[in-house]
Amino acid sequence: MVSTEIIRQRESLPVFPYRQEIIDAIKSEPLLVVIGETGSGKTTQIPQYILESFPEFRLIGVTQPRRIAAITVANRVSEEHGSRLGDDIGYCIRFDDCTSARTHLKYMTDGVLLREATIDPRLSHYDVIIVDEAHERTLETDVLFGLLKETHRLRPELKILVMSATLNVEKFSDFFNSCPIFIIPGRTYDVAINHHRDAKISSLKSTYVQRSVETALYIHTQEPPGDILVFLTGQNEIEKACRDLEGLDRDLNYKTDVKHFEDVRGLVIYPIYATLETMEQKAIFDDPPRYTRKIVFATNIAQTSVTIPGIKYVIDSGFVKQKTYDPATGMDALLVVPISRAAATQRAGRAGRTASGQAFRLYSRESYEQMEGDTVPEIQRSSLLGTVLSLKKMGINDIINFEFIDPPDPAMVKNALKQLFLLEAIDDTGKLTTLGNEMSIFPLSPFLSRVLIASSRKYECSREVVIIVAMLSVDEIFVSPRSAEKQMDADEKRREFYHPSGDHMMLLNIFEKYRDSGYSRDWCRDKYFNYRALSMAKSVRDQLRELMVKHDLPLISCRLKNYQVKDDGDRHRKKRRNSYQDIKYNAEKILESFSTSYYINLAKRHPHRPVFYHYASATGPGSEGIDSNSSLLALHISPTSALHPDNKIVRVDDLDWVTYLSVLYTNKALMKVVSKVKLEWVQERLNLFKKLATANLDGSYGSDKSESNTLEGSDKVNSAVTDAQKVKDK
Ligand code: ADP
Ligand code: MG
Repeated sequence: MVSTEIIRQRESLPVFPYRQEIIDAIKSEPLLVVIGETGSGKTTQIPQYILESFPEFRLIGVTQPRRIAAITVANRVSEEHGSRLGDDIGYCIRFDDCTSARTHLKYMTDGVLLREATIDPRLSHYDVIIVDEAHERTLETDVLFGLLKETHRLRPELKILVMSATLNVEKFSDFFNSCPIFIIPGRTYDVAINHHRDAKISSLKSTYVQRSVETALYIHTQEPPGDILVFLTGQNEIEKACRDLEGLDRDLNYKTDVKHFEDVRGLVIYPIYATLETMEQKAIFDDPPRYTRKIVFATNIAQTSVTIPGIKYVIDSGFVKQKTYDPATGMDALLVVPISRAAATQRAGRAGRTASGQAFRLYSRESYEQMEGDTVPEIQRSSLLGTVLSLKKMGINDIINFEFIDPPDPAMVKNALKQLFLLEAIDDTGKLTTLGNEMSIFPLSPFLSRVLIASSRKYECSREVVIIVAMLSVDEIFVSPRSAEKQMDADEKRREFYHPSGDHMMLLNIFEKYRDSGYSRDWCRDKYFNYRALSMAKSVRDQLRELMVKHDLPLISCRLKNYQVKDDGDRHRKKRRNSYQDIKYNAEKILESFSTSYYINLAKRHPHRPVFYHYASATGPGSEGIDSNSSLLALHISPTSALHPDNKIVRVDDLDWVTYLSVLYTNKALMKVVSKVKLEWVQERLNLFKKLATANLDGSYGSDKSESNTLEGSDKVNSAVTDAQKVKDK
C-alpha cells in the first residue's frame, strides 16, 4: 500500500497541478521538450503520469546520465507506485538489468539505450522515450539525440520527450524540428550570493576542501538554523571533509561557540557521491533530528539530478571533476576544473528550494565573471573512441556529417578513427573489421574489448583477463575507513594481495581470494573491500564469459601446469607473498594482452627518482637519458598501487617501463592501475602511433572549425591511415 505521506508528497510537487496539461501535450505532440527547476518532479512524476494515463503503452523508457540515479529513481518510483522494483517499474544499467516481462516503466542509463539503439534503431519495444537530465549533455545523450531524430523519421508514432533543468532549451527544441516546450513554473525563493572577497579560483585548487570545511563551520556556528549543502568534486575529498568537520565539531562548545544555540545544538554529516552506499542512506532525504543541522558534502550529483530537501545554505567550491581528453595519451582523464557560470547558478539555486537562502562561493566575483558561460558538452571534450565504434556498428560511416546537436571537433573524430585503426577495429578505408565487429559485442570501452579478444585469440589467458577486466569495470573496490587506525589495518591486509608485476595481477589475486572465500560478505568486510563492487565484478565476469562463449571466443587459462599451492602454514606466508601469482600464472601474457590497447599509456622511469614520464614526452622510447631538470609532466605511482615505493614490493630501480590504466590529476598526476611492462611488447604499435600522430599535424585538418566545412566525411582520415598502413607494411 502507498502511504498517505507519499501521496501528499507527490501532490505537493510543483509539477502536480500540470498533470493533465502534460498528458494532453503528450497526446498531441510526438516530440516535446519539458523544462522545470530541479526538484519540481520531472524525473519521478512525469513517467508515472504517463504510466497511469496510457494503459495501452507497452514500455516507457527514461534515460539518466548516471547509473546511480537510474537505480535510486526506479526505487523511489516503485515505492511511490506501490509495486516491487523490477515488476511494473524497473531499471537497467550496464551489467545490471532489473526489469522483467511485466515492466512498463524502465529507467536506464543513456548508455544502455544507446546500445539498444545500436541493435534496433527503431526502438520497437518502446512507445515513449524520455531523455531526462538533457542539460547534462553527456556524450551518450548527445549521440542519442542524433539517433532519436532518425528513429522519429522511421517511427513517427513514437513519443519522444526531452526533459531538462536549465532554461537554455531552445536548442533542444530547435534540434527536434522546433517542437513545443512545456514549462513547469518553479517555486523558487531568493538566494543571497556571497562571493569571497578576493580569492582567485586558480589559487583555490589546493585549499578548497579545507576552506569548504571552514565555511561550513562558520555557517554552523554563526547563522540561523537551516541545512547546508557543500559542493566538492569526489569521494576522497568528501570523506576527508566529513572527517575534518567531525573533528572540529567535537571541539565545539555549543553554549559558547554557537550563536544560535537555542536552535542549533548539534550536527549530522552525510557524504553523497556516486556509489550506492551513499545514496541508500535514506536519512539524507529526511529532516535531521530536532535542534540539529544537516550538512551534506556532495559531488555534482546534487547539482541537478538529486534533490536534497531543506537546504538553506550552499557552499560552492567552484570546482568539478570532469572527463577531459588528454592529447598526450589519447585517452580521457578525469580532471578537477573550475565550473561554468551556469553551473554556479544551478548550485546556488539549491539553497532556495523551500525558503530563501544563501550561497557562499569560495571564489571572488571577478573569478565568477571570468568563468566559462556554459559547461562544454562532453562530446566536445572526449576521446570519442567508443562513440565512433558504436556509430560504425550502426552503419553510420560518415561521422563528421552525423546530425549532432553540437558537433564534435573533427580533429577528435579523426583521432578516434586513427586509434580504432591502431586497435585494428577499422581498416584503412574506415570500414569496421571483423575484429571491430567482435569488439562491439562487449559493453566495454574499445580498449578493454580489444584486450579481451587479444587474451583469447592470441595470448591464451582469457580466463584470467576476463576477471581483471571485470574488476576494472566496477566501482572502487577498496573501502577507505574513516579512522587512521583502521586505515593502517587495511593497508596491512592489502599486502596479502600484492603482486610484484603490479596492479593488474593484484586485482586477479583479490578476485580469486574473494572467490575462495565463497564470495563472502564477511571476508570483504574483514579485508576492507567493497562487497557490492566485488559481487558486481563477479556478475560482470559471468556476463562477459557468456558473451565470449556465445561468440566463439575461447576461454583459456594461463595457469602454469606444474604449479601447486604450497600450503605450509603462515610461517612461510611472507616469502610466498612476493611470488604467489608469478608462479601460478603467466603474468607476462596477461600484461601483453593489456599492452595491445594500452601501449600509449606507457611511462619510463626517471633514472634516479621514483618518477615517471609519459613515453611520448620522454626523449623517446628506448632512449636512455631523460633530462633530469626538464619541465615534462611527471607521473607518479598512485599510493593505492602495489608498486608504490612505500609498499616495498619491488625496488624502484627494478621498474623501467610501466603501463597504467588512467591518470588521475590531483595536485600530482597519479597513474592508476600500474604494472611493469617490457618495451618490446609495444614497440611496433608505438612506432605506428607516432607516425599517425605526425600525420595529424600535416596541416590539412587542424582543429580549426573554419576548415571543417571543407572536409568530406572520413576521406581525409583514410589518407593518413593509408600512409601509416604503408609504414606498417614495410
Ligand atoms: P526533478 O527531476 O524535477 O529534479 P525529482 O522528480 O527528481 O525532480 O524529485 C522530486 C522530489 O522528490 C524532490 O523534491 C525530492 O526531494 C523527492 N525525492 C526524489 N527521490 C527521492 C527519494 N529517493 N526519497 C525521498 N524523496 C525523494
Ligand atoms: Mg530530474
